[in-house]
Amino acid sequence: MEIKVHDRILEANIRIAERNRELFKRKGITVLNLIGGPGAGKTALLEASIPLLLRRFKVGVIEGDIYTSRDSERILALGVPVVQINTKGACHLDGNMVESVLSDLPLDELDIILIENVGNLVCPAEFDVGEDAKIVVMSVADGDDKPQKYPLIFRLAKALVITKSDMLELAGIDLDRLKDDALSVNPKLEIFLTSARKREGLGGWVDFVTGMTTGRT
Ligand code: MG
Repeated sequence: MEIKVHDRILEANIRIAERNRELFKRKGITVLNLIGGPGAGKTALLEASIPLLLRRFKVGVIEGDIYTSRDSERILALGVPVVQINTKGACHLDGNMVESVLSDLPLDELDIILIENVGNLVCPAEFDVGEDAKIVVMSVADGDDKPQKYPLIFRLAKALVITKSDMLELAGIDLDRLKDDALSVNPKLEIFLTSARKREGLGGWVDFVTGMTTGRT
C-alpha cells in the first residue's frame, strides 16, 4: 500500500519535472542538479565554479535546504540571482518546489541554473526536477565506499565531482577504488577531482559544464 502511494507521488513528480524541462529548453537554459551529502562541499564548489562560468555565461542558482538560507547568502555574495527553497523537513527537492520558484529567476537572461539539492545521497536521486543532468558531489573525506552504498545516484548522474582534494592524504581513501567502483556502477560517469579551497582541478569540471551549456557534451 505504502509503495503504491510512493509510486503515485513519483509519477506526479515526473509530469511536473517534464514541464520544467520543456520550459528550460524553450528558454535555452542548461540545468544541473547537484546532489551530495551534508559537508560534501556543494556550496563551496558553486562558490569556486561560478566566477569561472560567469566569464561566458549568465548563471542562476536554486538553493535547497531543509530550514536555513545560509547557503543562499553565500551565493548571493557572488552577485548572481539565487532563490531559496526551504523544504521544511523534506529530504529532497521535487519538481513542484522548483517550478514554484522559477518566476523569481530572470529566466530570459540565464544560460545556466545550478541547483544545490538538500544534503543527502538518497532521496534527491529519486526526484527528477527537470534538470539536464544530475551531478553527484562527494568529498575525499566521505570515504571510498559510497558508489556501492548509494548506487542509484551514481547510476543516474552524468558526472561525479570529488571535492576537497587538498585533504586527500589526510582522508586516507583509495581514490582508484572510488573511481573504479563509481565507473562499475556507471561506466559513462565523468569524474573530476577538485579543491574549491585551493582552486585546483576546477578546469575540467568547468569545461564539462561549458560543454553541457553549448551542446558539446
Ligand atoms: Mg551547501
